[in-house]
Amino acid sequence: MTANLSQGTLYVVATPIGNLSDITTRAIDTLKSVDIIACEDTRTSAKLLQFFNITTPTTAYHEHNADTQTAKLVETLKSGKNIALISDAGTPLISDPGFRLVKACHDNDITTVPIVGACAVIGALSVAGLPSDKFSFVGFLPAKQHGRIETLKSHQNSRETLIFYEAPHRIGECLSDMVAVFGAEREATLCRELTKTFETIKKLPLGELSAFVKNDPNQQRGEMVLVVAGNTNKQVSTDYDTWLLAIAKELPPKKASAIVADVLGLKKSVVYDRLLMLQK
Ligand code: SAM
Repeated sequence: MTANLSQGTLYVVATPIGNLSDITTRAIDTLKSVDIIACEDTRTSAKLLQFFNITTPTTAYHEHNADTQTAKLVETLKSGKNIALISDAGTPLISDPGFRLVKACHDNDITTVPIVGACAVIGALSVAGLPSDKFSFVGFLPAKQHGRIETLKSHQNSRETLIFYEAPHRIGECLSDMVAVFGAEREATLCRELTKTFETIKKLPLGELSAFVKNDPNQQRGEMVLVVAGNTNKQVSTDYDTWLLAIAKELPPKKASAIVADVLGLKKSVVYDRLLMLQK
């Protein structure tokens, strides 16, 4: 299908994730030249737009008005006007609103143009010190523990690096569940407050990372991405689960975990938590 040239274009524009200098000149030019900027939150974006002297009119586009706004914005684009889509921070559609609008543009033969820039997933992966050739972006985990554990289990044997977004008030619980599902030895990197004053990049085995975060309340503040190594030894992990469950059929859970922990040189509590998780 060829684009209809009398229609406008939707520019999907990345904005900074902290440091305002991380905006491209192309993003500023685009935001100045379009007819309307669709913002996730007009008040949040007003600060950014004022800072760069951008006076383009704005309209709200978020998950609660996406139904009505998608139709309105598509009509505006069809009338020949250009629109820029931005979110509160980073790249729109990456755990942010915008998918329905972009899909509607495709459905209506309207051109979409990415104005690339900051994105927390990519920033975190670039400094995590973990394999970056293949990765899965998992995004936010479910808030409730049952759903979180189920999601983690579904990624337990993935060989590629896993990337998670997490809220600061849940980082402690999230790391404990990761230790139980992935094991304390798996390498992970916490990337906190990227591009901001208190930027912290900490790479440790999950068990130690969990203790590091729990022992320092400052590590439970701000915005964070967790990058977790993939399962590099699937066979050992499967064997360990199989032995553990087999021994636990014959012995009480504490005794079974203590034996497996002793053989593998792991902490008893880690193996015990894993057994409880496997038996759920
Ligand atoms: N669209 C954004 C992007 O391109 O990364 C992500 C939006 S999502 C609603 C917000 C989450 O992204 C935060 O909870 C955090 O997990 C991550 N994030 C955003 N900015 C960050 C930063 N400066 N440092 C670390 N993580 C960040």
